[in-house]
Amino acid sequence: RAKEAGRNAVRFYLPSMNERAVERLALVDAMRHAMSYSEFELYYQPQIALATGEVIGMEALLRWRHPQMGMLRPDRFISLAEETGLIVPLGTWVLRAACAQAAAWHRSGLGELRIAVNLSSRQFNDASLPRLIESVLLETGLPATSLEIELTESLMMENVDAAIATMRELKAMGVQLSIDDFGTGYSSLSYLKRFPVDVLKIDQSFVRDIENDTNSTAMVAAIISLSHDLGLRVIAEGVETEAQLAYLRSRGCDEVQGYLFSRPVPAREFEQMLRDSRLAALQGAAVRPIG
Ligand code: C2E
Ligand code: MG
Ligand code: MG
Ligand code: MG
Repeated sequence: RAKEAGRNAVRFYLPSMNERAVERLALVDAMRHAMSYSEFELYYQPQIALATGEVIGMEALLRWRHPQMGMLRPDRFISLAEETGLIVPLGTWVLRAACAQAAAWHRSGLGELRIAVNLSSRQFNDASLPRLIESVLLETGLPATSLEIELTESLMMENVDAAIATMRELKAMGVQLSIDDFGTGYSSLSYLKRFPVDVLKIDQSFVRDIENDTNSTAMVAAIISLSHDLGLRVIAEGVETEAQLAYLRSRGCDEVQGYLFSRPVPAREFEQMLRDSRLAALQGAAVRPIG
């Protein structure tokens, strides 16, 4: 009986394992093709300065228009791309596409918008990253100061000294550096002053709970004052409600990003949004300049 149960267990267990493995393999295979068939696309989400109510930049967010599965968000494929190393060519494509788009918007008179690009651990630990960024900036004509690189705490903590060296190189070029999802990692505050960053991005989990969790509210307030005491800019991500916005404003948060203003949208839509001032109208209602 025990043997039978064991056999049953195996029968029930293996097929699902196989299914998952097959699904992953298929996805990896599809990802390789997706590169050459340009199924990847960047969406853009505006970042708004609270002092002026103006859109001052945007974050580039990767999407995969899969021919069968539809539009996939990064949580479906980024970790797989990391594991297989595909993230390196994919990440290079993201950098180039994001900088080219931002430069095009500069040239078309939409303003000196800043573009924020997410980097994965493999990309960041690649010794040629500074040279790559340098050549992408040269190729696209985007000023280095208009590029912001988003890093996570865990990525920076993998090898602190190497991370600091790379960050210094990027800073020397004029590239801005931000810590994404700040507050969710395990880095100690003492490291913060060693990393040459310009911006902290308050993780959306804290922003989401502003109205109903006093601990999150305290975290948000603390991160804002910490940023300012260290001379850093601070952005709140995941802002969805007027109440969250009001609180962030009352604490002097510099910038906001979230569905309250806009979801990430395709380039053409982002451009349209800026051009027809639909966003400006939204801001008029949602964001009033401080003072
Ligand atoms: P992230 O960098 O922290 O990006 C913020 C995520 O929050 C995005 O999800 C964005 O769509 C979402 N978001 C923005 N505003 C709101 C809001 O008001 N409410 C809620 N609930 N969500 C909001 P997305 O686009 O699915 O990206 C998820 C993560 O994937 C990103 O988190 C980033 O870590 C990663 N990622 C995205 N693009 C790239 C890329 O080009 N390269 C790498 N390496 N990672 C990327
Ligand atoms: Mg990000
Ligand atoms: Mg984030
Ligand atoms: Mg994230």
